[in-house]
Amino acid sequence: MIIMKFGGTSVEDARAMKNVIDIVERERNRTPVVVVSAISGATNTLLSAAELALQGKIEEAVTSLNTLYERHVLILENLIDTRSTVQMLILDTRRRIDELKHLCQSIAVLGELTKRSLDAIASVGERLSSLIIVEGMKERGLPAELVDARKVIITDDQFTSAMPLFNYIEDTAKATIQPLLENKKIVVTQGFIGSTTKGITSTLGRGGSDYSAAILGSVLNAEEIQIWTDVDGVLTADPRIAPAAKKLKILSFKEASELAYFGARVLHPSTILPAVKKNIPVVVLNSQRPNASGTQIVANPPRSNVAVKAIASKKGITVINIQSMRMLMAYGFLESIFSVFGKHKTPVDLVCTSEVAVSLTIDNTSRLDQVVAGLEEFAEVTVYEQKAIVCIVGEQMHSTAGVADRIFRALSDINAMMISQGASEINMSLVINEQDVNEAVKRLHAEFFEPVPEMALFETIGEV
Ligand code: ASP
Ligand code: MG
Repeated sequence: MIIMKFGGTSVEDARAMKNVIDIVERERNRTPVVVVSAISGATNTLLSAAELALQGKIEEAVTSLNTLYERHVLILENLIDTRSTVQMLILDTRRRIDELKHLCQSIAVLGELTKRSLDAIASVGERLSSLIIVEGMKERGLPAELVDARKVIITDDQFTSAMPLFNYIEDTAKATIQPLLENKKIVVTQGFIGSTTKGITSTLGRGGSDYSAAILGSVLNAEEIQIWTDVDGVLTADPRIAPAAKKLKILSFKEASELAYFGARVLHPSTILPAVKKNIPVVVLNSQRPNASGTQIVANPPRSNVAVKAIASKKGITVINIQSMRMLMAYGFLESIFSVFGKHKTPVDLVCTSEVAVSLTIDNTSRLDQVVAGLEEFAEVTVYEQKAIVCIVGEQMHSTAGVADRIFRALSDINAMMISQGASEINMSLVINEQDVNEAVKRLHAEFFEPVPEMALFETIGEV
């Protein structure tokens, strides 16, 4: 069997949903389990309605819920021909939106919005989209069957970012999904949502449908997990900066993880960890161009001679330089530094150290003042803002001679204030001035990908 996960933009309107049904129909013989997100923007709308209600802006909340209702009605009217089905779906949608309005009213009255209520509210997006898609499939003559993910994805009670409880899910998935698959049904279920052992609705956190797909793929031993989205896959660089950027046909899970930090929009690799642990290939595909081959993310891709796979960058980086003579030959110094960051819940990304100084980067500066004050208790601190990280990623970089030389020659006059190559050596990261980023990415892309080093690994964007 395979998992087919469709993101919000893949179900954003009736045309997109028709596409989804075509794609699923094509894969019918592979026993698909379909995991759907809410229609694009729905989760944001739902959460902001709750927030508006909390601020007492109940009319605004109701207006945005009405708009959401109308979007769903428009979709189902354009997707489904059978009048009685349309009416049933409209009624169902209406009922759920009305429930939300009541919920918003109580939030406004009580002036209280718990994480638990947020999850209940957010879950409606996936519950509505899945309802429509399953009816669309049935009308197409497909043996589709809706399974409420809350009966399958059992989680702890950390609402808004609940953790899946695999012990339970192994059993629930086998009990609810397996028999349907054996009866040749196409199972449709919601991404993102689950429920606690007490049956209270929970969610896996924003963007959680990829996680749902990986969890189900893992417990059902899928042969493949397809993540259908609106981009062709993982690219060698941002094509707005390097127009010659190509799509990668295959990359390793580790490479994908490095790229994720840099906002490679495709998916968050930690969410596919359950799949990687079981060696299940994850393929990122574009539902608008279903014949393109996408990008495969696997634990161990075949070896190639290509050292560098992609170049990524991130602006808005702050460098903190921490210097102290007390560090010289002393132990416990790094510990005291990191405890300050830990105390202020500020993640550290790159770290470079010398005998008397530590430089590190952060991208979340919301508690910078507290962090600096904490560090100044035992060291001299300098902060540099408006920096950027450029990252060169490739699993075979460390075993290929001359890569660093090529990087520094390409950058020549662009000054790097920090350089870091991790022990895993699948990336090299450089901190440079923000204004130099585009130029640096362009030059590095030209150096490593123009011309393309090994065509078998890459594909032109937009090619089918
Ligand atoms: N609909 C949820 C969100 O927007 C989950 C997802 O799309 O993955 O965060
Ligand atoms: Mg989404």
